[in-house]
Parts: sequence; C-alpha cells; structure tokens
Amino acid sequence: MDLKEIIELDKEFFMNAFGDRLPVCFEKGRGIKLWSIDGTEYLDFFGGIAVTSIGHSNPAFVKAVKEQVGKFIHCSNYYYIQQQAELARTLVENSCAGKVFFGNSGAEANECAFKLARLHFRKKGQSGKYGIISLNESFHGRTLATLAATGQEKYRTPFEPLTPGFKFVDANDFEALKAAATPDVCAIILEPVQGESGIKVMDRDFLQKTRELCDEMDIILIFDEVQCGLGRTGKLFAYEHYGVEPDIFTLAKSLGGGIPISACCAKDRIAVSMSPGDHGSTFGGNPLACAAGNAVMKILLEKHLPKKAAVTGKYFFGKLDGLKKKHGVISGTRGMGLMIGLVLNKPVAAELKLLCLESGYLVGAAGNDVLRFLPPLTVSRKDIDRLIEALDKILTEKYD
Ligand SMILES: *Cc1c(COP(=O)(O)O)cnc(C)c1O
Repeated sequence: MDLKEIIELDKEFFMNAFGDRLPVCFEKGRGIKLWSIDGTEYLDFFGGIAVTSIGHSNPAFVKAVKEQVGKFIHCSNYYYIQQQAELARTLVENSCAGKVFFGNSGAEANECAFKLARLHFRKKGQSGKYGIISLNESFHGRTLATLAATGQEKYRTPFEPLTPGFKFVDANDFEALKAAATPDVCAIILEPVQGESGIKVMDRDFLQKTRELCDEMDIILIFDEVQCGLGRTGKLFAYEHYGVEPDIFTLAKSLGGGIPISACCAKDRIAVSMSPGDHGSTFGGNPLACAAGNAVMKILLEKHLPKKAAVTGKYFFGKLDGLKKKHGVISGTRGMGLMIGLVLNKPVAAELKLLCLESGYLVGAAGNDVLRFLPPLTVSRKDIDRLIEALDKILTEKYD
C-alpha cells in the first residue's frame, strides 16, 4: 500500500478523532531515526509524545520483549506475576513511593490516583472529603474523571456533565490555591512541568508551599509525571528538582517503551487504603507490559539516561538560544532537560511543524505558538546540530 491508499482507508474506516494527520506513515525505526514506507529518513524529536525515551528498537529492549512474547503474554491479575512484582520493586527502590499499581494509560493511572485519594479519606470516615484541585492549562487525560481534572475548557465542555468535585486555580498562584484548599478537598493534582499546554515549568517556591499546605490541611499531593517523569527532565522523577515529595505520582508515556503500561505510585501510608475489590484491571501490569517496563528501567538506570538528558538538554537549550538571537519569530525557550518548548511570537507552530517534517524532522506543536521537542534521551549533539541547522534554514527562508 502507498500513503495515498492508507489515507483513503483511514478516512473511510477510522473515526475522525485526529483529522488530517501529518502526511507520513512509518514502517521502521532505530534510535532517533524513523523511516517512512517510501524509504525517507526522519530524525524523531517528538518521540511519539515522550514515549520512546530509549529510542526506537533498542536492541536490549527488543530482545527482552521478544523473549517474553515467546514465553507467554498474559494471564490476568488473578495470579502472581513475577515481571510485575519486579517492576514494582524497581519503581519503589528508585523513588519516594512505597507501593505501585499498574494500568494501561496515563488517564488510568490518574484515575487510580483519584480513587485512592478518595478511598483514603472514606476509610478514615471522612466521606465528605472528596474535592480535587487541579491547575488551569493542565492535561490529565481523556476519560471523564481525568477530563474533569484537565484545566482546558476545549477538552472538557463537549462531555459535560463530568465527574463532580473538581476545581481549578492558576499554576504558580499559591494564594489562589490556598483559598481553594477548603476542608472538603482530598487531593491536589499537578504536573511539575505541564506538557500538553506548552512545557510550562512550576516554580520551586510554589511546589514547596503547596507541599506545606497539603501537610497542614491533610490533603494528598498528586504529581502527574506521565509526561515529565522517568528521566525526561534530567532527573529520574521531576519532583527531585523541587526538594518535595508527592504522596502519589503517576507514570505512563515512556514506561513501556511503546508497549502500553502506566503506574500509580503511592507512599505506603496512602497505599494501605487499597484493599481487595477496590480497584482492578484486565491488562494492567501483564507479563508483556511489565517485561517491557523492566527493560526500559534497566536501560534508563544502567545508561544513566536522566543524567544524559540533563547534559544534552543543556546543550540543546544553548543551541535554541543561539537561534533566538538570529530570528525575531522566536520569543524564548521553556522546559527542563529534554522536555523543551520553543516559544514563538506568531501563531505559526503548526506550519513550522509541517516544514520541519518536510525537511526530515519530527517535532511537536503545543497550542498555536509553541514548538515542542521530546526526543529520545539518547539523542546526540550531532542530531541536535542537524535539527538546529534545518530550523535555522527554515526560519531564514520563511520568517525573517
Ligand atoms: C499524555 C498525558 C496523560 C494521558 O495519558 P494517556 O496515556 O493518553 O491516557 C496524562 N497526563 C499527562 C501529563 C500527559 O502528558
């Protein structure tokens, strides 16, 4: 099949949730490279929305997944699962969490976090303490409860009424958060670095005061690290940059290297509220997904990819700052490690994304005016130099 035929099939049989997609279809990947069905080579600076942190088709990862597929894939959570117990141990040993629950998507991990927070107070006899505060411009998923927590009206409005009990305050506005933190609030959820809305970094002071507020008011602090977690920001978990620990944090995107898996990780004092029958999942944490997760974690830790992301990220930011000096259309950069937003002063992000694609580079857009870079954490300086050169050329030709 050629691209035209694939597009026709898609238009006829797939729900139009994604509209006109970028006009390319891939068939093979290796490291930061992807090849389309017509043989064109691309450098992937989007990483499937921060999923392919270890790169495409990492040989050790492929070997581990193949081995697991050859043994068996699934059995259900009615039985003990070695790969699941091992992945839970790795996450606990490397984080502030005491226990873990596995789901299949970021939304599910956040749902688990909300359920656990409400359960925690209900089991203490405080069933009226169920409110959840979230931040404007946040993104927490597409299910009804995670939409209720997502601070962007365009996603929420078409599906109202949503799960009740959620309210919003502005990011980095501690006074507003404090005013919203009434005794009926059981949890605050936030992304330490907001991804979907354009790579917005929380202030250190804001997160530290939020932690203190949660302690004072007996509120569970949930960090959604679905996008910013697992090395992306230059530390294994984004919360490590802030000198605060969440009570619950969620992971997903890069955890399975592309095999669907997510995790809701909680401190022991919260996790104990989960009893048999309270929660479950058919696929969540199955042997294949956890074998993939174990392989990803092994590579992340053994190759020191969080540290590498910090160092390479610094280089990347430096290069983008250089572009800013040359091109008036760039107003600045935002982010941490290899979670980077290039802020434009014109609404040309979508157009620029397409021009990058035509030059052989995959990048993301967030909103109208932010280009988003989420490359594999293994990205080299040479790869970055190539992207910068291409961007420089595009900006010179189109926007100067
Ligand atoms: C992508 C994302 C989600 C939702 O993950 P899905 O796997 O699409 O359900 C939730 N939170 C954040 C911060 C995300 O980036």
